[in-house]
Amino acid sequence: MPDTVPLTRPATTQRTEHFDVLIVGAGISGVGGAYHLTKQCPGTSFVVLETQESFGGTWLTHKYPGIRSDSDLFTFGYRFKPWTGAPIATAEEILRYMGEVIEDNDLARHIRYRHGIASARWSGLDNRWTIEGTRTDTGEAFSITANFLWMCQGYYRHSEGYTPEWPGMADFKGRIVHPQTWPKDLDYKGKRVVVIGSGATAATLIPAMADDVAHITMLQRSPTFFRAARNADELADTLRKLEVDESWIHEIVRRKILHDQDVFTRRSFEEPDKVRDELLAGVRAHLGPDYDVATHFTPRYRPWRQRIAFVPDGDLFQGIRSGKASVVTGEIERFTEKGIRLESGQELEADIIVTATGFHLSALGDIAFEVDGKPLDFGQTVTYRGMMFTGVPNMAWVFGYFRASWTLRADLVADFVCRLLNHMKARQARRVEVALRPEDKDMPLLPWIDTENFNPGYVLRGMHLLPRRGDKREWQHTQDYWREKNELPAIDLDDKAFVYD
Ligand SMILES: Cc1cc2nc3c(=O)[nH]c(=O)nc-3n(C[C@H](O)[C@H](O)[C@H](O)COP(=O)(O)OP(=O)(O)OC[C@H]3O[C@@H](n4cnc5c(N)ncnc54)[C@H](O)[C@@H]3O)c2cc1C
Repeated sequence: MPDTVPLTRPATTQRTEHFDVLIVGAGISGVGGAYHLTKQCPGTSFVVLETQESFGGTWLTHKYPGIRSDSDLFTFGYRFKPWTGAPIATAEEILRYMGEVIEDNDLARHIRYRHGIASARWSGLDNRWTIEGTRTDTGEAFSITANFLWMCQGYYRHSEGYTPEWPGMADFKGRIVHPQTWPKDLDYKGKRVVVIGSGATAATLIPAMADDVAHITMLQRSPTFFRAARNADELADTLRKLEVDESWIHEIVRRKILHDQDVFTRRSFEEPDKVRDELLAGVRAHLGPDYDVATHFTPRYRPWRQRIAFVPDGDLFQGIRSGKASVVTGEIERFTEKGIRLESGQELEADIIVTATGFHLSALGDIAFEVDGKPLDFGQTVTYRGMMFTGVPNMAWVFGYFRASWTLRADLVADFVCRLLNHMKARQARRVEVALRPEDKDMPLLPWIDTENFNPGYVLRGMHLLPRRGDKREWQHTQDYWREKNELPAIDLDDKAFVYD
């Protein structure tokens, strides 16, 4: 049970609950954090606060047709819970998997749903955070204090997606929908649909809707890299036939997938042209020699500058081959009453326009942070390995990988946080903060991410909201799982970068 302490604020006799750790968000990172806390820091009191009505985060928010992962679940799943299905999973399957983690480990009692956090104030006087927010079911305000904040709120705003403003949008007589807020009542049977965008979301939506619509068009400004393969893992299937234990299969297949991805990632940096040709050959094999792959499927960027969208069983290409789906590449000039006019003069008529145009970056869950009475400008902090931030005591953030499964990093960060909490306990420290060491003082400070290497729109639009990085590995989110898996567990918690009190 959490201990309770009197509210330090005047004018009320109410008591505020207090926890050792408060986890923000019950997505894959927050639920994983809760699991690791119970295993690695037994006896630690903690609570998980979640705005939505249930767990799942991304997999609960997105309800568009076909919603599925684009990473394999052997690596998107936790390292501690075997994945027993096909590599690419539907949101429903991921939610079931997470539900089992919660049930098997008795985590439900720690999670409070419908608790939207609005503010977090750090007080150096009593070394604790005060978290305030509103219950979305009753409208009641709540206030909780905690020694340590574990930010598992993801990286985008869940309440609405990003839709650019195009001229004439108000003129369009049909319906405009964003995949993130898919209307339950949307009837697209027999309708003409234009999907703006060609990322993983568009690649999922189009095959899922193609059978029902009159026609569906993927309208893109510029092409994306796609990789098509069977939604099956041969090694996993063989090991299952041999009746190998599922926990072994999970570990072996994870290692194999991670090894293959390592090779692929390194090759895409070392020989980008060759990798590009291979990816394009894969698309050609699905679409046939007469298809204009040069216009519609040949990106201008190098492989891995943006996440490569995976197309399980080539389903996107099947729709295109059948004629039910098509791709148009061009700039939008304006929306019209009947659809969209392109700069080329081409008109696309539509009953429904789906804007698969991405997210609003939300670095800290739209929570107003204050440290000792001063509003926190997160963009002015410097990150310690993409997990902690200068000037922000007792706080860690889970920001996963772009080129590998997010959960790989959620597990690694969880190990780090648990080790740090245990270290603080052993040192009897009530506060930890990262600070630049004397040798870091003249280090150049750069944006959060190197846009030469990774540059999706939502990151570019929101870069000023994200912490800065240095030019040393300690002061960066390197996006390199293969090195971090050895480096993060080896962090010396008594290094001068950690200041305890
Ligand atoms: C459609 C889609 C598909 C994706 N597919 C993959 C994939 O296949 N592989 C991959 O690696 N990554 C994928 N990603 C990235 C994905 O978001 C992450 O991998 C992962 O699900 C993030 O988990 P998370 O728990 O860190 O954050 P989220 O899933 O974003 O969950 C955060 C939770 O925090 C809650 N929250 C936020 N702010 C507050 C607040 N102020 N108060 C209370 N609660 C709050 C939210 O309601 C949410 O439930 C995908 C993303 C999208 C949008």
